[in-house]
Amino acid sequence: MTSPRRRFLVQSSSLVLLLTTPLLARGATLMSIRVWPAPEYTRLTLESDGPLSATHQVLSDPPRLVVDIQGLQLDNQLRELAGKVKSDDPFIKDVRVGQYKPDVVRLVIDLKQAVKPQVFSLLPVAAYQNRLVFDLYPAHSGDRLMAFMQQQEALERDRLTGAAAPPQTVAQAQTGQQDSLGDWIRKHRSELDDSQTAPQSPQVLADNTPAPRADPVRRDRRNFHSVLLAIDPGHGGEDPGATGPSGVHEKDVVLLIAHHLRDLAMNTPNMRVMMTRDSDYFVPLWTRVEKAQSANADLFTSIHADGWFTPEARGASVYCLSDGGASSVEARLMAQRENAADAIGGIDINSRSYQVAKVLLDMSTTAKINASLKMARPTLSKMGELVHLHSRQVQQAGFAVLKSPTIPSMLVETAFISNPEEEARLQTPAYRKQIARAIFEGLRAYLDTNPPLARRRVLT
Ligand SMILES: [Zn+2]
Repeated sequence: MTSPRRRFLVQSSSLVLLLTTPLLARGATLMSIRVWPAPEYTRLTLESDGPLSATHQVLSDPPRLVVDIQGLQLDNQLRELAGKVKSDDPFIKDVRVGQYKPDVVRLVIDLKQAVKPQVFSLLPVAAYQNRLVFDLYPAHSGDRLMAFMQQQEALERDRLTGAAAPPQTVAQAQTGQQDSLGDWIRKHRSELDDSQTAPQSPQVLADNTPAPRADPVRRDRRNFHSVLLAIDPGHGGEDPGATGPSGVHEKDVVLLIAHHLRDLAMNTPNMRVMMTRDSDYFVPLWTRVEKAQSANADLFTSIHADGWFTPEARGASVYCLSDGGASSVEARLMAQRENAADAIGGIDINSRSYQVAKVLLDMSTTAKINASLKMARPTLSKMGELVHLHSRQVQQAGFAVLKSPTIPSMLVETAFISNPEEEARLQTPAYRKQIARAIFEGLRAYLDTNPPLARRRVLT
C-alpha cells in the first residue's frame, strides 16, 4: 500500500536524484529484503552483496523509526518493501522509502507501538551474503513478562484454592530482550545454588491421577505442583536449520512435531506447556533457555531434524549437555551444527543480553546434567519402541540450548532430514504424530518416577 506521504517522498527524492551528479561510487546491491513478524519482535533483514552502514533514530508522535542507509540506490525491491509488511504485524504499520540523498536511502518505518530497536550487521555466513538487521522489540517489554507471570499466578491460585481449573493454554513466555536475563540471574542466583538439593515433590502428577484434595490448612503447595513442559522447536525465521534433498526445511517440520507434542501434553492432567517459539521466526539459543527459565519450566525438550554429510544416516537420537568432551565425534559435530543457529539466524553479539547470556550459559552443573540424562534415557527407550533409532545411547556434547542452569534439558533429533526417505516421512502428519507420541511417552515414563523439583518460586 502506498501512502500519499510515501509517494511524495519517492517523488521528491527522484527529483533530488535528477538534480545531482551521476558520478557516484557504486554502493552495495540489495539482494533480498525479508520481514519476519512475531509476537515478541519483528525483524527486517536487508541482504546485500556488500556491507551496508546505516544510522537510525527513533521518533514519537506518531512512533516511527527513521533509518538512513549509506551507499544504496532506490530500487524496485525497496519500493515494494511496504507490500511485504503484513497488516497484522504487531509492530510495523507501514514503510516509506525514498532516495534521501544521492547515496542515502531513507526508510521511515511507521510503528504500531513504541519500539526499542536493535540494528546490527552480519558478515556472510551459510547461504547468506551481508545482512543489515533491524530487530524491533517493544519499548516496554517488561510489561509482557509481567503479564505472563500474572497469568501463571492466577492459574496456580486457582489450583491451590480448588477452583475449577481454567482451560490449559499454550503459555508462551514473552520475555524482554535487554534486561530480563540479567534480572533473572540476579533474582534467582540463590535458587540456582540450592535447587539441586531441593526436596522432590512427593506426588507424581504427570499421569492421569487427579491431584489429591488435601486439607486446605495443611495443604503443601508442592503437592499441587503441575508439570510445566518447555517445548523448543529448533531454528526458525532466518535460520531454516537443515534442508532436505527435496527442499523441506527443518524449522518447518519441527514446529509441526512440536505442535503435536504440545497437544498431547495439554490434554494431560497437571501438565502445562510453554513454547519457545510458535511460528516462523528466529529465536536466539540463549533466549530459548531464558524463556524456559523465566516461566520456571520443569523440563526442556528441544526438537530437531538435522542433516548429515551423507544421505544414508537415519533414525532418531537423544542428546544431553556434556560437562566435558563430547561422547562421540558425531555428537560433537551435531552440537557444532546446532550451535551455528545463532550465527545463521543472526544475533547482535554486542548487545547486553548476549553478554549476560554468556554468564548464564556457563552455570550448568554436573547435577543438572545428571538430571537431564535421567530424562533422556527413558525418552530414548520409549522412542525406540515407536521409531527407528540412530543411536541406542544418549549422546552428549556442548549444545548451547541445553545449558539451562536448573531445568533438565534434552535435544531430540527426530530424524535425518538429509535422508530422502526420512525427509519424505517427516512430511506426513502420521509420522510427525508418531514422533511426538514417542517423545511424550518418554517424558511420561520419566515423570512417573522423577517428579519435578518444587521450585516454582515465581508463583509464591
Ligand atoms: Zn537443528
